[in-house]
Amino acid sequence: MKTYEETAEGDDMTWKDKQDKLEEIAEKHGSEFLICALGWADILIDLNSDLGKVVPDYRALQIKEKFGVLRCYIDQAELMDPEIRKQAYDAIGRAEIRSQGACEICGKDATQTETSWVKTFCPQHTEKMKTKGFSEIVKEFYQENNLEWNLGW
Ligand SMILES: [Zn+2]
Repeated sequence: MKTYEETAEGDDMTWKDKQDKLEEIAEKHGSEFLICALGWADILIDLNSDLGKVVPDYRALQIKEKFGVLRCYIDQAELMDPEIRKQAYDAIGRAEIRSQGACEICGKDATQTETSWVKTFCPQHTEKMKTKGFSEIVKEFYQENNLEWNLGW
């Protein structure tokens, strides 16, 4: 496995690379790190990189999808300094905005869709959502890309 420093941010990484990287991040910064599908991997990897520059030992309390948007909660104890807090929240804000335009399943350009609930999906996955449940679509994506199912749901 390549370390993150040896790979370009996002673009040249395979889905497996991204999955490994997210697991590495989760181990270092909090086991609850990843509660969303892999389509937002690039956003999370960049967020980790941005946060790491401001708060090297930041603790992710929860990072998840809610109403079609990435939500990131980090431990406030590291954010007592107002300037550090501002930079950390700016990084989180950028990630949240990016997530509103990227499919949570596959990362392609997306819009928010309201089928049974609000999700950010590309047209292809919006179509699937009409007949399939969210976790079924995610599992399908994992199978198509030969990834092991490693999410806790
Ligand atoms: Zn998609």
